[in-house]
Amino acid sequence: MAGVAANLLAVRERIHAACCRTGRTPDSVELIAVSKTFSVEAIREAFEAGQTLFGESRQQEAAPKIEALPGTLRWHFIGRVQRNKIRKLLPSFDVIHAIDSLRLAAYAAELAAELGLFPQLLLQVNVAGEVSKGGFEPALLRAEMAALLRLERLEILGLMTIPPAGPDAESARRWFVRLRGLRDALEQEFEVSLPALSMGMSGDYEVAIEEGATHVRVGSAIFGERQSRVDGELG
Ligand SMILES: *Cc1c(COP(=O)(O)O)cnc(C)c1O
Repeated sequence: MAGVAANLLAVRERIHAACCRTGRTPDSVELIAVSKTFSVEAIREAFEAGQTLFGESRQQEAAPKIEALPGTLRWHFIGRVQRNKIRKLLPSFDVIHAIDSLRLAAYAAELAAELGLFPQLLLQVNVAGEVSKGGFEPALLRAEMAALLRLERLEILGLMTIPPAGPDAESARRWFVRLRGLRDALEQEFEVSLPALSMGMSGDYEVAIEEGATHVRVGSAIFGERQSRVDGELG
């Protein structure tokens, strides 16, 4: 764990460099430190090194961590959203990244009304049409976008994706380009602003930034290799 502060610094420098290369301002990219499977102590170490935004992918794992850490930390939920967990997720997380169906979004809207909340959400897109992966198929998202935008109380910030695993960072580029293209098309067609693109992980976040990512979700490059897999991980 001694390396968390140094790792964070290195990741921040790489983000900065990727922004400079592409003429973006470094504050146009939010670094989400993905702390799933890592301890409260590791998260505290990152926090003390200046990191305030963290990502978790399981509600049961996240709840006691959020409880144990200062209220100044911010949390994004990046995992697959189970319907029976949304009630607990909405009050704890600032942003939910992986809403993957109209039905789930409609349920989130219903709960938001009941709880008096205005949740910020991203829509997960299955850019490569992988059978095992969650997310809207792009054509379905286009077909359902009007209905999604009509849901009250939900602030749809943009799109999120987990591209297919590839041999290197470059192989993810085309999927990042595809997500950005879909976002641009939806903005035009529906006359909405969808500023957020959540894409890029430890292996490919620099490429994602070059292609327009506003949120990169970086875990192992900050906290080290994970010992255990998480249910719903990379779903
Ligand atoms: C675990 C996870 C990450 C972080 O992955 P690393 O390769 O450790 O950076 C990013 N996004 C999602 C959805 C994840 O589940």
